[in-house]
Amino acid sequence: MSYNIAVDGPAGAGKSTIARRVAKKLGFVYVDTGAMFRAIGLYFIRQGIDAEKQDVISRDCGKADVSIVYEGGEQQVLLNGENVNGLIRTEEAGRMASVVAKNPQVRKTLANLQKKLAQSTDVIMDGRDIGTTVLPQADLKVYLTASVEERAKRRYLELIERGEKADLGQIEQDIIARDEQDMNREISPLKKAEDAIEVDCSDMSIDEVTSRIIELFEQVKK
Ligand code: C5P
Repeated sequence: MSYNIAVDGPAGAGKSTIARRVAKKLGFVYVDTGAMFRAIGLYFIRQGIDAEKQDVISRDCGKADVSIVYEGGEQQVLLNGENVNGLIRTEEAGRMASVVAKNPQVRKTLANLQKKLAQSTDVIMDGRDIGTTVLPQADLKVYLTASVEERAKRRYLELIERGEKADLGQIEQDIIARDEQDMNREISPLKKAEDAIEVDCSDMSIDEVTSRIIELFEQVKK
């Protein structure tokens, strides 16, 4: 028997930062599902495919083989065997990920991979539909959210810290557009699972959110 924790929520809420920390503390594997969609997004960016060409995405998504390996406990995403971890953290890849994420074939393939990863290992998995679709039996479901302003500010600071150029207003617009797309798509839209616990982290520190999730897990642990 393995434990599964699902963390869903809108863009920039801090899901990956928190999930990575909780995983370390609990000795779980952290599975970042957004990275898988980003890898497929990168495939289509490289092919120069127009973002709204869903028919082409359906036809060609089988050519973008995504797999996962772990190096030093860190998830590495392979796209057709190439490690693309360092290439998928851009706003462009995030936008394209959100476009390919509307595609039923892409979702089905990735959900199967995600389910398999959680079957025999204790995992904390973050994404948009983990509690609702991928791991509906998860032991704990968290819906992590924060105000748009706070999420934009955090993403802005993250980019600046990495030495990249960033425009706060533009980031806020991107976040609003991505939420809109993720919450309103037909298949597996982003929404809080009925049995998920909502954590609004607008005014919480990383340590506070981490402790809160561990505390919630201790309560449901058998
Ligand atoms: O979390 P991240 O920003 O890396 O996700 C990129 C995009 O991938 C999201 O905006 C969303 O459209 C898509 N995604 C998804 N389902 C998941 C994880 C990510 O649709 N489980």
